[in-house]
Amino acid sequence: MTDVLETARVQVLESGRGLTEAQALECLRLPDDRLPELLALAHEVRMKWCGPEVEVEGIISLKTGGCPEDCHFCSQSGKFESPVRAVWLDIPSLVKAAVETAETGATEFCIVAAVRGPDRRLMEQVRAGVKAIREAVDINVACSLGMLTQDQVDELAEMGVHRYNHNLETSRSHFPKVVTTHTWEERWDTCLMVRAAGMELCCGGIVGMGETVEQRAEFAAQLGTLEPDEVPLNFLNPRPGTPFASYPLVDGKEALKTIAVFRLALPRTILRYAGGRELTLGDLGTRDGMLGGINAIIVGNYLTTLGRAPDQDLKLLVDLKMPIKALSDTL
Ligand code: SF4
Repeated sequence: MTDVLETARVQVLESGRGLTEAQALECLRLPDDRLPELLALAHEVRMKWCGPEVEVEGIISLKTGGCPEDCHFCSQSGKFESPVRAVWLDIPSLVKAAVETAETGATEFCIVAAVRGPDRRLMEQVRAGVKAIREAVDINVACSLGMLTQDQVDELAEMGVHRYNHNLETSRSHFPKVVTTHTWEERWDTCLMVRAAGMELCCGGIVGMGETVEQRAEFAAQLGTLEPDEVPLNFLNPRPGTPFASYPLVDGKEALKTIAVFRLALPRTILRYAGGRELTLGDLGTRDGMLGGINAIIVGNYLTTLGRAPDQDLKLLVDLKMPIKALSDTL
């Protein structure tokens, strides 16, 4: 039987065709002593199909907490005894954050709101925010506002929103164990509408929410079918008060294997380190991931937890000789 990494070398590295679900599972099951080989192949794939540049993004929360949905990992749900309470940010603070983000060299600035989907008030806030940011600074604006109607998709595209984030969070088969207030299919539909409207699609999820290794492979293959422009990969950071508060952290080696397998399933995507990596991987692991398929990072703080200082991450990119992707390339 041919070794799965030999097959992947021909199929993914040379031809640019991502791993199938069965191949992704086989790679996830590789013994730990083959992890360096797996990471090295994922790095080669990233360099061949995406290049050495790293996309840097900042995120800001326009509306934090008090969400009516029950995503079991999320401290912003109003359904759990979590410490995050509903707070709105004003437009000057939003613009200030966008300017500071641009100063780090970042090309994307993502406005996030903890909602099921936007209402009129939020759409108006976003419209005003996007306009004010564009007047103040040269940076692509992305949004993450939950599930959208077709009219809302069209409105965001018309405002000039460059990319829309809507995560599937986990595989279709595991999703009902994570969220009960809406379905995976509803999320999928928003993703399709976003892409059809010409915005870039950012869609990823969280690893370590009690899914099996088979379900991780399933999720990688489902994202492979969707082909998002960007996939943010989070590792569960169990938040106090949420139903997943007592879940264990993903083991560092498992996390690195998952990163590499997602890269091999999605050879051309922007694969972004999102939340949870500091806990799961630590500083050394962050470096390993950057050499194992990751080609994008979020600088600064995440939405409800603290990340690393931006200069630490930016220094790592200099050490690794990976230039920050320039804004002109993305316009
Ligand atoms: S993940 Fe989003 S939709 Fe789900 S509870 Fe958190 S803020 Fe609400």
